[in-house]
Amino acid sequence: RPKRAARVFDGVGQTADGVRVQLLANVADPDAARAAVAAGAEGVGLFRTEFCFLGRTSEPTVAEQIEAYRGVLAAFAGTKVVIRTLDAGADKPLPFVTADSEPNPALGVRGLRTATAYPGVLDRQLEAIAAATAAEQAEVWVMAPMVATPDEARDFVAACRAHGITTAGVMVEIPAAALRSAAIFEHADFASLGTNDLVQYTMAADRMLGDLAELSTPWQPAVLDLIAATCHGARPHGRPVGVCGEAAADPVLAPVLVGLGVTSLSMTPRALADVGAVLAALDHAECVRLAEVALGHSTAREARDAVRDQLRPVL
Ligand code: PEP
Ligand code: MG
Repeated sequence: RPKRAARVFDGVGQTADGVRVQLLANVADPDAARAAVAAGAEGVGLFRTEFCFLGRTSEPTVAEQIEAYRGVLAAFAGTKVVIRTLDAGADKPLPFVTADSEPNPALGVRGLRTATAYPGVLDRQLEAIAAATAAEQAEVWVMAPMVATPDEARDFVAACRAHGITTAGVMVEIPAAALRSAAIFEHADFASLGTNDLVQYTMAADRMLGDLAELSTPWQPAVLDLIAATCHGARPHGRPVGVCGEAAADPVLAPVLVGLGVTSLSMTPRALADVGAVLAALDHAECVRLAEVALGHSTAREARDAVRDQLRPVL
């Protein structure tokens, strides 16, 4: 049986038996980065760089980007910051890279796909990231959003390397990438599961529609299967797999994710203490068992209820 939570999150995420699970923050600007430091985040698992681009009619210059990125990196000197390259389109439209005539923007030219249409935008962003990294002496990992195929991963990693970026990975938020993650890990140094979009694309349920809440949950067995598949593909290569979607902030789901093989969780800073406390109360083997409990149910509601029931002593 799980033990009662003995301590609150103290800045080092780990299970009761000492298996490390980095607890990181999702941030979008320097203010959010400072708030994340105050909340005890061990680093940044998702830096959404769109803030630098949104609300503008033209692309920010390289110098503007360097300044914006340095603001976030400065708050996390010497700790890991995962920077996501521009994720434009669908829920994050940008006039200078997204078409306004697409019939299905969520399935259109978005995320990394805009880099194919506008290669210079990615190139200049990587140039700015590399310069900000050097200026701040930061530990920067760079990842691409909306990667669907191993070839996309290969090309993105090559583009990063060309700018001297040593740790380059992908977001897994499209089922195709989850199912074929082993081939993606031939190229990518790491992956981060974007569960918000992974749920949307697995369940064919628009993430913006509250009416579809029953479908739009990471507790859906098919979504848990895809998370497990992603981790399975990472194992032979020994690659880290994080979660940076909303799922990581759910203290009931977090141990299940760890049990499925996830090695870091990135969330809104206010969720860090609760998630950290639950993990600190459970041995890693208990997380694995909770993952088996979740996978053993055929509906999202049953899976969540069963895990919550087992976690009652520590919640
Ligand atoms: C996600 O899709 O889960 C994610 C973290 O990215 P965003 O919410 O910015 O699309
Ligand atoms: Mg996403």
